[in-house]
Amino acid sequence: MQSELMKLENVSLAYHTLAGETVAIQNLNLSVLDGEFLAIVGPSGCGKTTVLSLIMGLMRPTSGSVRFSGKDLRLGYMLQRDHLLDHRTVEKNVLLGLEVQHRLTEQSKARAFELLDTYGLGDFRTYKPQQLSGGMRQKVALIRTLALEPDLLLLDEPFSALDYQTRLNLCDEVCRIIRSEGKSAVLVTHDISEAISTADRVAVFSARPATLKTVIEIGFPKDMPPLERRSQAAFHDYFDRIWKELQP
Ligand code: ADP
Ligand code: MG
Repeated sequence: MQSELMKLENVSLAYHTLAGETVAIQNLNLSVLDGEFLAIVGPSGCGKTTVLSLIMGLMRPTSGSVRFSGKDLRLGYMLQRDHLLDHRTVEKNVLLGLEVQHRLTEQSKARAFELLDTYGLGDFRTYKPQQLSGGMRQKVALIRTLALEPDLLLLDEPFSALDYQTRLNLCDEVCRIIRSEGKSAVLVTHDISEAISTADRVAVFSARPATLKTVIEIGFPKDMPPLERRSQAAFHDYFDRIWKELQP
C-alpha cells in the first residue's frame, strides 16, 4: 500500500472580486500517493490551476484543508510557459532555482549539469533560450526544477503551448524523466489522451465549480511510455469512459 504524500480534504475555494463571488472548487477530496503520477482532467476554466495553487500554498482554501505527509516536502513546478530568462545561458537558467534558494554548491551544481547531460541537453549548456526550440526550452525548465530535488512535481498544462508533434514527443520524454528520477507528479490537463498516456490514476473534474466526478485507475504498467500506451486497445476504452464522465 502506497502512503499518501498529500491530501486535499473537503476543500472549497471561492474567489472574491468586484463582480461578486466565483466558487472555483467545491468539497474536493483527493490525495496523491507516494511515487504516483496523478493526472487531473477537466474542462478549461473548471478550477485545475486553482487546485495547484492551493497545493503550492499560494492561496488558502475557503474551507477544508491541504495536508502533507512530511513537513519538509519539497514541491517543484512545470508550467505552460517556461519562464526561462533570455539573458542567461541554459546552464545559468538551470542553476537559477538553486541560487535563489541559496543551495548552490559544487555538489548541487554537478548534479544539475549531470541532469542536462543525461537528458540530452549537455551540448546546449552555453546556448541562450531563444536559440532553442519550444520543446527543448520546456525540458530546460523541467531540469531547472529537478535540480532542486523536489519530492512532488506539479505540472500545469506544460505541453499545451507546443505544436502537436512536439507535444507528443516532449510528453513522452518528460514522463520518462519523471519516472526514471522516481518522482511523484500531478499533471493538470484538459487533454484526455495526455492524461491516460501519462498517469497511474486520472481524476476527472466537473465544470466549475470543480467537483471530483470520479478517479480512474489506469492499468498500464507504470513504466510503459506514453506513446506506447496510446497504441493499446485499452487506451480507447479509458478515453470513452473519461469522455462520458466529462459530459455535463
Ligand atoms: P483552469 O485551470 O481549470 O482552466 P482556473 O483554476 O484557472 O481554471 O480558474 C477556475 C475559475 O476561477 C475560472 O472560472 C476563473 O475565471 C476563476 N478565477 C481564476 N483565478 C481567479 C482570480 N484570481 N480571481 C477571480 N476569479 C478567478
Ligand atoms: Mg489552468
